[in-house]
Amino acid sequence: MPTYQYRCADCGEELEAVQKFTDEALTICPSCNGKLRKVFNAVGVVFKGSGFYATDSRSSGARKAATASTPAKSTASSPAKAASS
Ligand SMILES: [Zn+2]
Repeated sequence: MPTYQYRCADCGEELEAVQKFTDEALTICPSCNGKLRKVFNAVGVVFKGSGFYATDSRSSGARKAATASTPAKSTASSPAKAASS
């Protein structure tokens, strides 16, 4: 389960809460009943992982987009799309 970090906008209190993705975010500071805000940079591991994934999928995705645009055009002009692979 992911750990979320919150910081109170009113008193500066920081707290961590282990929640499911489906759980509602905390919004009220337990010490002063002020507004809680999520602090995202506390979960650096998650962002590192997704960064790797984004970089990897971007390069392969660009290649896919480049090759995909070519048969799409030829398919429009000629109906023999099964012959080309
Ligand atoms: Zn507070």
